[in-house]
Amino acid sequence: MKKVLINSSFLVEVEETEVHKDFGMIDQITNELCHDQKTIIGTSEVNMKWESCSTVVLDPVSMNCGQCSTCGRWTTDREKSNPLLQLCNGATFEGKLLCDDCLPEDHK
Ligand SMILES: [Zn+2]
Repeated sequence: MKKVLINSSFLVEVEETEVHKDFGMIDQITNELCHDQKTIIGTSEVNMKWESCSTVVLDPVSMNCGQCSTCGRWTTDREKSNPLLQLCNGATFEGKLLCDDCLPEDHK
């Protein structure tokens, strides 16, 4: 058997005052998400052990992230340095940041 670490990320909008609050909305939300999970796949029950949780306050000025110019989805430019790997892959095409769904099909 192999151990597989599955990461999943959620985006949430909170008031700026919540960002540094102790046990504010962000901590309360992560408490809701960060626990062991169970799911049924076919006829098998799959148990997932919770391992870790982290939060990142997205800042397009200082981080490699931004909203896709076409659909608005948060994305990271995989062709530039320090991509945020928790976000959808994207790239700059004709001067605009685009997510992988909105990039032309022939773009790598
Ligand atoms: Zn898009």
